[in-house]
Amino acid sequence: MTRDIVAMLRDLVSFDTQNPPGNEEPLVKYCNDFLSGLGFETQLIPVAPNRANLVAMWRPCTSLQDDQRQLVFSGHADTVPIGDPTLWHSPPLEISESDGKLYGRGSCDMKGSIAAFLAVAQNIATGTASIPGISKRPFTIILTADEEMGFRGITALTRQFSVPSVGGVIIGEPTRNIPGIGHKGVAWFQITFHGQAAHASRPDLGKNAILMATKFCERLMADWQASWSPLVHPLLGSPTINIGKITGGIKTNVVPERCDVWVDCRIVPPLEVTDLNHRFEEIARQVTKNVTITPDLVPSLAYSLPLDHPLVQISLKAARRESPQIFPAFTEASHYFHALKLPVVILGPGSIEQCHTTDEYVARSELEAAVGIYERCLKYFGDQIAQA
Ligand SMILES: [Zn+2]
Repeated sequence: MTRDIVAMLRDLVSFDTQNPPGNEEPLVKYCNDFLSGLGFETQLIPVAPNRANLVAMWRPCTSLQDDQRQLVFSGHADTVPIGDPTLWHSPPLEISESDGKLYGRGSCDMKGSIAAFLAVAQNIATGTASIPGISKRPFTIILTADEEMGFRGITALTRQFSVPSVGGVIIGEPTRNIPGIGHKGVAWFQITFHGQAAHASRPDLGKNAILMATKFCERLMADWQASWSPLVHPLLGSPTINIGKITGGIKTNVVPERCDVWVDCRIVPPLEVTDLNHRFEEIARQVTKNVTITPDLVPSLAYSLPLDHPLVQISLKAARRESPQIFPAFTEASHYFHALKLPVVILGPGSIEQCHTTDEYVARSELEAAVGIYERCLKYFGDQIAQA
């Protein structure tokens, strides 16, 4: 008996994969059992205790050469935290439907597209796919752990994944089913100013770390405006900066000894993380020598595909769209693109506006449409290889 896509989404959402701590393994095992039951060759790759990636390959024909290029559908199994569950209008780990919207944590980001991958797998394995002939096409479904926090799943995967058989990757992040062909890179920094404590009545005996930090912040923003804001990448636009957090001082009547500033930068080529590091250091040293700058996230690079790239054209035709979009947020596309040198398109049901929100939902119509779009991706991708 085949499973309905909404029933599968309901199952996926019922697994609590809020990250931290993630605990993706039970969900990944559920998908493993489902896909191996359909005839997929599956492999669970441990990432950390109770956390794993899944690689599930559809290899319909044993005579397939190892180097036959295939498409990968990739999704992350974790979600962001639910937050205060009493603010949700329905239980966040259950799917509830109203007005054509399916509510639940992860429904949009991105268990919806994982359910669509499973539906495609089921259609293909049972011979009920909308397009005749695609059952003979090899493809792979990959699920990763820890996308929302530290990218440990994709990092483990890119270290041991054999690339030659893969010709392209579709990441099912929510794009309202409009192909995304690039996004900015991201780098976070923690900048720590070390001052000297003193009694507030004798500030002349101390060194005020908060004042150092505020001076730094002003100079940083002025420098950014002059140096990096004018930089425009033809597809990705300009780099951006946000000073997101400052902590410093311990008490009103003490000269603060330490102040920390956290900065988020969204970068585009040719700007690189090392450029930022150097410039931040120069600006900080104009203020004080007692400063340390630490990367606060593994920096990740921007990626983009040209409009005329075959995978872009295939995904546009499959999604029945004229033009693609630039995805606003960072994704694992960067890892596939830079670490494995693979072309990647971001394409999935749901809207980025719903990601990480209370009462997150995916529209049922978009969820169901994604199945046909992914099946057409397989067809056009295979046609293109057959012609090549
Ligand atoms: Zn996501």
